[in-house]
Amino acid sequence: MPRIDPESTIKQCQDFIRDVYGRPNDRHFSLWDMLSNMERFTMRALKGIRKNDKNKTKFNLLISIGWFMSTLNSLHIDLDESLWKRFPHLCSYCASSPCSCAENKIEKRKDIPINDSKRPVTLNGFQSMFGEIYPAENRSIEHAAVHLAEELGEFSESILTYMGEHKDELFEKVITESADVFSCIIGVFNSLGISMAKEISELFSGNCHVCKKAPCECNFGSIVKFRS
Ligand SMILES: [Zn+2]
Ligand SMILES: [Zn+2]
Repeated sequence: MPRIDPESTIKQCQDFIRDVYGRPNDRHFSLWDMLSNMERFTMRALKGIRKNDKNKTKFNLLISIGWFMSTLNSLHIDLDESLWKRFPHLCSYCASSPCSCAENKIEKRKDIPINDSKRPVTLNGFQSMFGEIYPAENRSIEHAAVHLAEELGEFSESILTYMGEHKDELFEKVITESADVFSCIIGVFNSLGISMAKEISELFSGNCHVCKKAPCECNFGSIVKFRS
């Protein structure tokens, strides 16, 4: 029986999503369907931010993460690996921690040294790392939300471009954009002061959060009509 807990790694979360949702995803949903669902629930989370509804934001982001991991699973992208390569305990742009992009007006992305001894093991560890690189008190939650929307657009664009040309370098772009968008989802959780790993493990404590089965046995109609 697949399971995750608050100390799970990102890979364990991704594997859990595959074990629970891989079968219905393969049978019912294309890559574009999964990406649309990720977008749909992220936008519902942003609405929660506009309405100052923390629970709505949290819940919809968790569902969005499920669709995001399903999308990455179908592309065989290892999120833990892409996240660490892009953010090795440093800002991916100014190469410092905490990020100094705003003060130093960095115009060109710097080369980023990777020191594997600082690599977080768990999802929780990654969330703490992002809290150090991009302290939540240095921005508003609305700022974090706009950044997430921007990165989600870039992630979609990278998939659209890759699927048009199927070139290796364009697939690399999908990998880096997947890290960027996930860093922004974590950023919103840091702004909310909520542990993503704890919430994921609670929501999915009994397999599929709706039908409680692994693999999920929800029928197509109920999946596409699902909302909170
Ligand atoms: Zn920076
Ligand atoms: Zn289900």
